[in-house]
Amino acid sequence: MPDNVIIRAKDVQKTYNTGKVVVQALRGLDLEVKQGEMVAIMGPSGCGKTTLLNTLSGLDAIDEGVIEIDGRNLAKMSDKERTAYRAANMGFVFQFYNLLPVLTAVENVEMPLLLDYSSRIKAKEARKLAGEALTAVGLPDQGDQRPTELSGGQQQRVTIARALVNKPAIVWADEPTGDLDSKTSQEIMDLMRRLNRENGQTFVIVTHSLEIGEQCDRIVWMKDGLVVGEPQPQPTAVPANGHVNGHSSDHSKSATLVPDLQAISNN
Ligand code: ADP
Ligand code: MG
Repeated sequence: MPDNVIIRAKDVQKTYNTGKVVVQALRGLDLEVKQGEMVAIMGPSGCGKTTLLNTLSGLDAIDEGVIEIDGRNLAKMSDKERTAYRAANMGFVFQFYNLLPVLTAVENVEMPLLLDYSSRIKAKEARKLAGEALTAVGLPDQGDQRPTELSGGQQQRVTIARALVNKPAIVWADEPTGDLDSKTSQEIMDLMRRLNRENGQTFVIVTHSLEIGEQCDRIVWMKDGLVVGEPQPQPTAVPANGHVNGHSSDHSKSATLVPDLQAISNN
């Protein structure tokens, strides 16, 4: 794609109708993410972050608008095509690991390879790639252990290995460090950042942690089903007043981000 945009969402609307209540979870949301970017999605609980991730990745359908992934409209695919496209091109990391407890670490990691029928990968090759992915996330010796025998941080590493084993173009992470202590969170963040830089994979990370958000290339702030702003963590970002010079970068970074966060959550 000439403009390098891998995720394009235009006027996306999504309503949940449970029969009792109708919730407008996304209300005309626009978003573009460039290939290789690491983007944080932040905003108050219930503002639609998980819904955004689930709809962008095609796990869930939208009511209005258009979503294009690498120029492809997933809504126009059949269920089977969409599932295959996801298996080949996307990886998922969730807060509560979602590892299958009866499988060992290496069996969990090789799962996407065996499920991606288009790749026609042999069991032996899948096992080898899964072992390499576990090594890449710092668990070279834990392949035969089951999730219950691993710590929370180790389980999340296994999830990341599983999300990355087939080298997907996009990795979706919904509060990947939400259940981890701050030291382990930082290790997981370092790992994702390294894989993002080494492999050029695009990461979209929902997080409540400003610390995690500030280590991404961009923070997209959401409120009430919309993107409400993008104060930029980079020192080169142009402040809202348009003056580029005049502040030391580290100082202006926290000075521009934090008041905006407060404005968004207090409104
Ligand atoms: P976040 O991830 O930012 O906390 P969600 O995307 O989970 O927000 O939810 C957005 C809104 O949609 C909330 O009001 C939530 O209660 C509602 N919602 C989410 N999933 C469902 C569902 N399956 N059925 C009904 N309402 C839902
Ligand atoms: Mg959520």
